[in-house]
Amino acid sequence: MSSEDTAGTPGHAHHTIHKSIPRGGVAPNLVDYEATRAAFTWEEAEGWLDGLPDGRGLNIAHEAVDRHAAGPKAQQVALRFLSDHADPVDLTYAELRDATNRFANVLAGLGIEPGDRVFALCGRQPELYLAVLGTLKHRAVFCPLFSSFGPEPVHQRLTRGNGRVLVTTAALYRKRVGQLRDRLPELEHVLVVDADEDDPDDPSVRALGPLLAAAPTAYEIGPTDPEDPALLHFTSGTTGNPKGAIHVHRAVVAHHATGRFALDLHPDDTFWCTADPGWVTGTSYGIISPLTHGVTTIVDTAEFDARRWYATLEEQRVDVWYTAPTAIRMLMKAGPELPAEHDLSQLRFIASVGEPLNPEAVVWGDEVLGRPIHDNWWQTETGGIMVANYASCDIRPGSMGRPMPGIDAAIVAVDDENEPLVGPDGPQLVTTPGAEGVLALRRGWPSMFRGYLHDDERYARCFVGDWYLSGDLVSRDADGWYWFVGRGDDVIKTAGHLVGPFELESVLMEHPAVVEAAVIGIPDPVAGNVLKAFVTLGPGHEWSDHLRRELLGFGRKRLGPAIAPREVALSENLPKTRSGKIMRRLLRARELGLPEGDLSTLETGPVPANEEA
Ligand code: ATP
Ligand code: MG
Repeated sequence: MSSEDTAGTPGHAHHTIHKSIPRGGVAPNLVDYEATRAAFTWEEAEGWLDGLPDGRGLNIAHEAVDRHAAGPKAQQVALRFLSDHADPVDLTYAELRDATNRFANVLAGLGIEPGDRVFALCGRQPELYLAVLGTLKHRAVFCPLFSSFGPEPVHQRLTRGNGRVLVTTAALYRKRVGQLRDRLPELEHVLVVDADEDDPDDPSVRALGPLLAAAPTAYEIGPTDPEDPALLHFTSGTTGNPKGAIHVHRAVVAHHATGRFALDLHPDDTFWCTADPGWVTGTSYGIISPLTHGVTTIVDTAEFDARRWYATLEEQRVDVWYTAPTAIRMLMKAGPELPAEHDLSQLRFIASVGEPLNPEAVVWGDEVLGRPIHDNWWQTETGGIMVANYASCDIRPGSMGRPMPGIDAAIVAVDDENEPLVGPDGPQLVTTPGAEGVLALRRGWPSMFRGYLHDDERYARCFVGDWYLSGDLVSRDADGWYWFVGRGDDVIKTAGHLVGPFELESVLMEHPAVVEAAVIGIPDPVAGNVLKAFVTLGPGHEWSDHLRRELLGFGRKRLGPAIAPREVALSENLPKTRSGKIMRRLLRARELGLPEGDLSTLETGPVPANEEA
């Protein structure tokens, strides 16, 4: 396969985007992919960090905050909080050190021990960041909850995770937690970020502000074994019940190294990660990774708004921007006129994660924003970016790129039921270019999860021999680029073909009327499954029987009759998780009248911008 033409399958029809280096006058951190991979070791990457003084181990918060606060970056802005109704709030590295020390001291004063679990249910206000980093300093385990979760998902996670402390707002406590209090016997302390006084009726509900103000600004991080647990993250629940993945302090080695190679973070950068800190991306890359690089991180406390987002990129002079396909598709839907009104010349690097990034979106970035979008792949379980498109490397639109330095990836063959094939010597690896199977990673990278909460058996099932099996189906082309096919649970068998919805959706999105699409299989006695597509239309397009037939014809022409959708329907709002992923299992359940399963992460409409108010 020549590098100009990766058109092995219908979804791969776009031309390679070549890079000229350096872009924006800044040399990428990773210049030669092969050479960097060959030379890289995780030991070397650990050496890029400081470690705690006197050989007392490795602590995420020390690497993210204290080591910068003790050096020339002390007065640099670490976190800048933007809002749509107030002035920005800045915290320098020195201020962040003092404030997180206070938080750690508050925990100590409450009798919280290393290993105890501290949860947060609040929006993107500064106290949330203090809670994450202060908890890590105190060697307790931090678990974020997405601020729009209702009472049941909150209860489920707090009890499963044995939360001793909850950091939240007065409004969220009243609406989501108060009525559960009797059912949360292990929850000993509720710290309310915006209360002026402790709750007179409930001694466990305390005002955080006065506690912080009374706490000393000095705190010495205790000895931290790199294998000490640090973070508990629940998965998105896209395919079923959310699982709790446990991560350790050593993960910071991967957070830092991936920030360097996959996000191309440079110490003078301004970085904006749009993911909510309620999810793993918002913690690993919205907080930890950029801070370990000493960059200035933008936190936007308001919800998505295309006009504001472009203004933020321009006014904050964002260098590196990490976002998600769902947001990019919303920007595409908002049209090309808005970005044209803004000077985006500072923007050097754009990356995306969370779902497959349609080739159409990569090319749109190149044409409309002047920068292509770099897709990368990882999971809650992997703790950090595993497969990526790099600043210096060409992009094959639709490909998630190549494994990170330090990451060995492989593809494991699957049977008819998508179950991995395992022989006496371990899993059966696929080597033929284009062949599909489960993406596997050789175990042992620093941010690999160390367990599923209360589910050792499930954890054990993720590993075969040396390999962690991700559950995602992929293929690899002859040059080593990986292509996402689908999640194990979303791929569809139709007329003897195994098809991933992503490829079909990407083709439908090439039709000018379509901005978003989801494809599911509907059981059929003859074909096994027939394909049904749900599409969302762009501005200026109206749904009609004519358009429906046109899309069916478009699909048949581009995909061939065997894998073209048999039905196309309009969907104004595709069901999505709160982290923005299309929930095909729910579309399928609704279509077939089946039980809808766990809906705790279903996005149920626009989230009010300042719900706490
Ligand atoms: P659950 O495991 O509860 O069903 P989830 O897998 O969606 O939820 P996350 O860990 O947040 O929870 O998401 C990781 C998954 O997201 C990956 O396994 C993959 O299916 C998908 N994903 C993430 N990034 C990409 C990408 N760049 N391309 C394709 N898929 C991606
Ligand atoms: Mg998953």
